[in-house]
Amino acid sequence: ELGVSMQRVLVLGSTGSIGVNTLDVIARHPDRFVVHALTAASRVDALVAQCMQFQPAVAAVADAARLDELASKLKAAGLRTQPQAGAQALTALAAAPEVDTVMAAIVGAAGLAPCMAAARAGKRLLLANKEALVVGGELFLQAVAQGGAKLLPIDSEHSAVFQSLPDDPATWSTRVAKIILTASGGPFRDWAPHALDAVTPAQACAHPNWVMGRKISVDSATMMNKALELIEARYLFGLPPDQLDVVIHPQSVVHSMVQYHDSSVVAQLGTPDMRVPIAYGLSWPERMASGAQALDFSSLSALTFEALDSHGHEQRFPGMRLAWDALRAPFGSCAVLNAANEVAVQAFLDERIRFTDIHRINVATLDALDFSRPHNLEDLLALDREARCLAEQQVQHGLARA
Ligand code: NAD
Ligand code: MG
Repeated sequence: ELGVSMQRVLVLGSTGSIGVNTLDVIARHPDRFVVHALTAASRVDALVAQCMQFQPAVAAVADAARLDELASKLKAAGLRTQPQAGAQALTALAAAPEVDTVMAAIVGAAGLAPCMAAARAGKRLLLANKEALVVGGELFLQAVAQGGAKLLPIDSEHSAVFQSLPDDPATWSTRVAKIILTASGGPFRDWAPHALDAVTPAQACAHPNWVMGRKISVDSATMMNKALELIEARYLFGLPPDQLDVVIHPQSVVHSMVQYHDSSVVAQLGTPDMRVPIAYGLSWPERMASGAQALDFSSLSALTFEALDSHGHEQRFPGMRLAWDALRAPFGSCAVLNAANEVAVQAFLDERIRFTDIHRINVATLDALDFSRPHNLEDLLALDREARCLAEQQVQHGLARA
């Protein structure tokens, strides 16, 4: 028999950077959490190793062709964990009655369908997968409201904002003047804009402060990560785009801030360790040990800040403004931007395009795609596919020209 306060957790994307950190936190609190299921895209060996430690009831891979491999490896490990496979299996798990809490740690729009299922099923939904909210937007929020789900931010900036806001969301729109997201500026913060043409994937993935998956690392280097986070903040906190701001803060100590109408600013600080926002999401409204080191103010050097319109940042990071543009454009534009960016980042990682082509492809796709307003998940997924096709054409087009 489980205790009343025991949360049964599904970790979507358990083999990734956020997934591994989530399991690290959960392992510290066996009295509070039991892992019901773990999922991965295709890395069966890593998934089975996690199953040996956490003994979940179910393990699933999105790649349907790997079901037999998963089944035989679970069996060989002497586990009773039930193997499942296919994108449908992940979506079904997100709505399963045996699950209380869903950690959404898939990367990209691939996480949208399971997130929407968890929202509709009224789960406690811990959102690391920012792309799902960027694509889903108001339809995602409708699903949360209709299902009675509790949506909790895991992105460090949004966790910081959430921790700096009053408890009652009904007061946010009247009390808050501005939400200010901090951005490290990534590995190229002080590079000459023209030097960015020659950047390699390895350079782009070497983030100065955080160790993360490759897609978000490239997004941090272009600052498209902050653009996606601005859109994420708009939906999580309900403020209009002109009350959302970004400031560059290279040390990543201040994780973000809320400015109130009396000009008071409340911030959340900490070492750059994702286990803090993960533990906060898991334990909210309480707090519990995360395993992270606290800040040591005696050894902390200066905290510095740079405006987005200073130091050549607008030339270096042209993608940042696309967040405000897409939020002011018709609903669906953020989905288009996200799809283009996913295709462009992958093309850059595959060394098919240059680093600076990512922005060109994002702009060209936003400009070229005519679409009608999406009304449901199916519309969003269709729009996502259409934008990917167009972005891929832009990649090909650029290659043909080069
Ligand atoms: P990652 O690449 O390390 O891990 C991604 C996980 O998703 C893996 O388990 C992978 O198997 C799974 N996955 C990938 N494609 C899938 C698909 N098509 N279907 C099902 N599963 C799939 O990425 P990450 O760094 O852990 O980031 C995960 C999400 O969290 C992203 O949206 C990212 O923006 C966000 N996030 C990450 C960090 C961080 O510190 N890593 C911080 C804030 C937000
Ligand atoms: Mg972040």
